[in-house]
Amino acid sequence: MDTLLTYGIGGVICFFFLIIYLRSLKKREVRAREAAEKGKLFSEGPKAQHPHIDNNYCIGCATCTSVCPEGDVLAMIAGKAVIVNGHKCIGHGLCADACPVGAITMVMASPSMARDMPQLTPEHETTVPGMFIVGELGGLALIKNAVNQGRDCVDTIAARIKAHPVPPMQGVHDLVIIGAGPAGISASLRAIENKMKYLTIERDEIGGTVAKYPRQKLVMTSPVEFPMYGKFKKMQLSKENLLAFWDMILNRADFNVSTGEKVDDIQKGPDGTFTIITATNQYRSRNVVLALGRAGEPRKLGVKGEDLPKVMYRLIEADHYINKKILVIGGGDSAVEAAMGLASQKGNQVTLSYRSERFSRIKERNAKRIEEFAKSGKVRVIFNSSPVEFKLESVILDVAGTRQELPNDFVWIFAGGTPPTAFLQKVGIGFGSCDVTLETSKAAKQADAERKQLAQAAAAPVG
Ligand SMILES: Cc1cc2nc3c(=O)[nH]c(=O)nc-3n(C[C@H](O)[C@H](O)[C@H](O)COP(=O)(O)OP(=O)(O)OC[C@H]3O[C@@H](n4cnc5c(N)ncnc54)[C@H](O)[C@@H]3O)c2cc1C
Repeated sequence: MDTLLTYGIGGVICFFFLIIYLRSLKKREVRAREAAEKGKLFSEGPKAQHPHIDNNYCIGCATCTSVCPEGDVLAMIAGKAVIVNGHKCIGHGLCADACPVGAITMVMASPSMARDMPQLTPEHETTVPGMFIVGELGGLALIKNAVNQGRDCVDTIAARIKAHPVPPMQGVHDLVIIGAGPAGISASLRAIENKMKYLTIERDEIGGTVAKYPRQKLVMTSPVEFPMYGKFKKMQLSKENLLAFWDMILNRADFNVSTGEKVDDIQKGPDGTFTIITATNQYRSRNVVLALGRAGEPRKLGVKGEDLPKVMYRLIEADHYINKKILVIGGGDSAVEAAMGLASQKGNQVTLSYRSERFSRIKERNAKRIEEFAKSGKVRVIFNSSPVEFKLESVILDVAGTRQELPNDFVWIFAGGTPPTAFLQKVGIGFGSCDVTLETSKAAKQADAERKQLAQAAAAPVG
């Protein structure tokens, strides 16, 4: 009798906890469905690489949902992991690493999203043979991907040169790398390791987008094989420490770089070599690696007074501004982070103007923080507003149809960048989804023919 009673009590307790568990599952699912609806409203889906979940293998353990650094990209619906906020995914891939049953693989964006992406072979070659694209410009964000692609692409070029050697030509490089962000740095170091005749051209400063992060920004990375160094194992470090690490290796390696020089055009000659044209120089090379990133030029708004020196597009040192009246324009993470950074400095009065009725594509953490800043009055957030004119000591905003003039010392605009699509089109690179196998063999055949032509030209007597 006692045993029966014990079993009965045990059963009731188990049933009680089961009900609680099932209720929490149901609540979680309701929240996930709401997030999915909200996610649909704000985007067409993932912009670049993102997880693909194989439902046949997913066991619904939810491990993937807990490891994503971007918050609620994934959620559990009907016992399976699904993408609910694809637009927030920047392709860290931690979900794929964490999945205990290998149900998640990282895939590129859907063809509709990829239509403004350059066509690339698996070896990173564009539709122009001998011209390669690595890093974020090819559609894959993150520093680790840029480093891996830069390194692997140069290995491909080195292997081709080895397989089809051509006599050296005066003034012709094996390789010119354009851009010195993580992809360009990695490609350059691999070129040094492979003893290639190379040159890197950078329009700005070494470090690319990383050099432009706000001061002391925490950078998340993954272990990666770094040329001329070996395994770089740090998972997170400050922007300054990452730049110092690159600087240390580049100094050791005697980096052949020309900074402050922008490439304006690339032309391919009948002998298959490229001429890389800048405002002051022309360089020749057999291969070109484009590591330009996608940040491009900051997008301007075309508002009256935008050319005043007080209007800026990048904020690195927020603590240089105190006791100022500031307007920040934009609704993305950069705008929100800049507004909070500036509002945390002594005496600043910060207004954040955004044209939509709410923030939609910012990180969960930023959404919560900006709400707190707004509630405490540290940042005045004005939705449904856009600038009409920037004056020396004020700005005029259109707020839901009415004009408001605010006293102002500085303006920051964060309206995104114009990716270098026009430049890629000008140099002849094809866009959109493609049959990669077909393109690979086409590009390989054409490159082969050009290499033969080049060898004949180099061997021919001069004059
Ligand atoms: C705010 C922010 C935070 C981020 N945080 C992280 C993070 O924590 N972890 C992470 O892994 N990733 C992060 N990323 C993404 C990461 O920074 C990029 O994926 C990475 O920098 C891409 O490297 P890249 O070398 O392809 O391009 P970039 O770093 O953009 O470098 C491209 C370089 O090419 C140069 N260039 C462009 N055009 C020309 C031209 N015509 N002539 C000469 N030079 C040219 C540019 O000046 C630039 O230096 C973040 C991005 C942003 C914007």
